[in-house]
Amino acid sequence: KSGFVTLIGRPNVGKSTLMNHLIGQKIAITSNKPQTTRNRIQTVYTDEERGQIIFLDTPGIHKAKNKLGEYMVNVAEHTLNEVDLILWLVEPTDYIGAGEQHIIEMLKNTKTPVILVINKLDTLSERDQMLTYIDTYRKVYDFAEIVPASALRGQNTDLIIDLIFQYL
Ligand code: GDP
Ligand code: MG
Repeated sequence: KSGFVTLIGRPNVGKSTLMNHLIGQKIAITSNKPQTTRNRIQTVYTDEERGQIIFLDTPGIHKAKNKLGEYMVNVAEHTLNEVDLILWLVEPTDYIGAGEQHIIEMLKNTKTPVILVINKLDTLSERDQMLTYIDTYRKVYDFAEIVPASALRGQNTDLIIDLIFQYL
């Protein structure tokens, strides 16, 4: 199997950390070379038995404020439709801000399955908090999966890989 995945989410949610963790575990090639005018390959994750996951960069998912912004949003929407799977990383909180709302609106325009990763599980003192956050997000969008994880500690990162392969 092989397929394309895009990792989206606000700055600081842990996208790079998750990617680095995956690279640390398996053979991976990172590249910043432009592949097409639309997409940049971030990482190719290779598993000898299961295949390849090609992670693509999605440019700025935000509200367009000008022509360039509009262009970026169009590119981003296009990428969301072209990939096999979207991984959306969020902070462990039940506050869904304007940025998240905007992403949800964009996701509603695509049929691509979305796995929501509620990252930084290790920062929570109580397990119940995570259950509340899962519940909050479950209500706002029909996610293919919702996975609590810690990119930093590697909690549930193997599960994320397993789930990705299921959707390729
Ligand atoms: P990005 O902007 O989405 O790529 O986020 P980064 O991967 O650069 O992470 C931003 C900050 O969050 C860094 O200081 C990371 O160490 C931290 N971080 C990322 N994942 C986790 C996590 O699972 N737990 C904790 N405690 N910190 C994390
Ligand atoms: Mg980053």
